[in-house]
Amino acid sequence: MKVEEIFESYKDNIMPTYTKVPLVFVKGKGSKLWDIHARAYLDFFPGWGVGNIGHCHPKVMQAVRDQVSKLIFIPNNYYHPQQAKLAKEIVYWTYPAKVFFCNSGAEANEAAIKFSRKFGKGRYEIISFENSFHGRTLGALAATGQAKYKVGFEPLPEGFKTVKFNDIEAVKNAITEKTVAIMLELIQGEGGVNVADKDFVLVLRKICDQKNLLLIVDEVQTGVGRTGKLFCYQHYGIKPDIITLAKALGGGFPIGVMLVRKEISDTLGPGMHASTFGGAPVICKAALAVLSAVQKEKLLANAQKMGEYLFSRLGSLKDKYSIIKEVRGLGLMAGVELNIEGKKIVEECIARGLLINCTHDKVLRLMPALNITKKEIDKGLGILEGVLKSL
Ligand SMILES: *Cc1c(COP(=O)(O)O)cnc(C)c1O
Repeated sequence: MKVEEIFESYKDNIMPTYTKVPLVFVKGKGSKLWDIHARAYLDFFPGWGVGNIGHCHPKVMQAVRDQVSKLIFIPNNYYHPQQAKLAKEIVYWTYPAKVFFCNSGAEANEAAIKFSRKFGKGRYEIISFENSFHGRTLGALAATGQAKYKVGFEPLPEGFKTVKFNDIEAVKNAITEKTVAIMLELIQGEGGVNVADKDFVLVLRKICDQKNLLLIVDEVQTGVGRTGKLFCYQHYGIKPDIITLAKALGGGFPIGVMLVRKEISDTLGPGMHASTFGGAPVICKAALAVLSAVQKEKLLANAQKMGEYLFSRLGSLKDKYSIIKEVRGLGLMAGVELNIEGKKIVEECIARGLLINCTHDKVLRLMPALNITKKEIDKGLGILEGVLKSL
């Protein structure tokens, strides 16, 4: 297909639910992408959080090739070794727990919502936070604390309350005898890279313990090494009751996971919840390759080191360009809040060969792959600085 034909087909045949950049990509490797004209781009926002180990990681490619030739799919009323291995691996890197496999972040959060309601035995209210993002399905959307995603889709399911982030009094005031869970992202991704205060999270844990509430941590974006630890909760010295995972875990293949603390994990029994494709052999094999790459290639250490470097470089940019209001984040999850809208800057960066994102209108989001090199960071920030200079 020619480029014009591709654009034409999208226009004619695909619902216009995405704001699109007019680029056609055909190949990826690590932090590099090539478009249909063979132009190379440096990707500092791989897959919207999916590409933590970069594009087309050789371990993932090999794992998938191996598994595709043996068994692609088997339904969840049977057993297969890859799901057993992956579940064991995820539990090994977290704490005693059981997992439920599905296919996306929203679906993992839906599972957490249903789990909480079953656990609550009549208690059903879930408290979430302003500027949070938990997905587009109705339950996950009801938990999402951003009105712009909800307009026109009401009525949403009942039983959700949104309060101010990092405000413990607001949480306390929202709790009733019907409350069953508190759900949050430790770093709000779509909401502008807002980091939860440590004290706030510690008190949330305490409140949940005292009132028998479930603490649900949505690690769909922060998980799998993004913040320099395998999971973001590990920075906080707490254990959530439920963790949801998706994005980066499959190395580009669709996966969602709800992980629940072992003592309560049998709340859901046979027939109570399901997902046909959840935890299929090829997907599990890909996820195992991702976790293996993170460990064997010491990507957490690299993410910490490169994260420090990235933040120090961004800090210097902030000192130099008054248009930057604040730099925040953790590991390789960086938000650069501007005094102006970021759309033009993103467009200009892309025109110069650097892919970044802007969220919440004014926050540039940089989430390079965990195996990014210093040289690539220098190149990317060189492009960004060139754009800032040209404003
Ligand atoms: C992307 C995202 C989701 C939704 O994931 P999908 O796979 O798109 O359904 C949920 N929570 C967070 C924190 C996310 O970043």
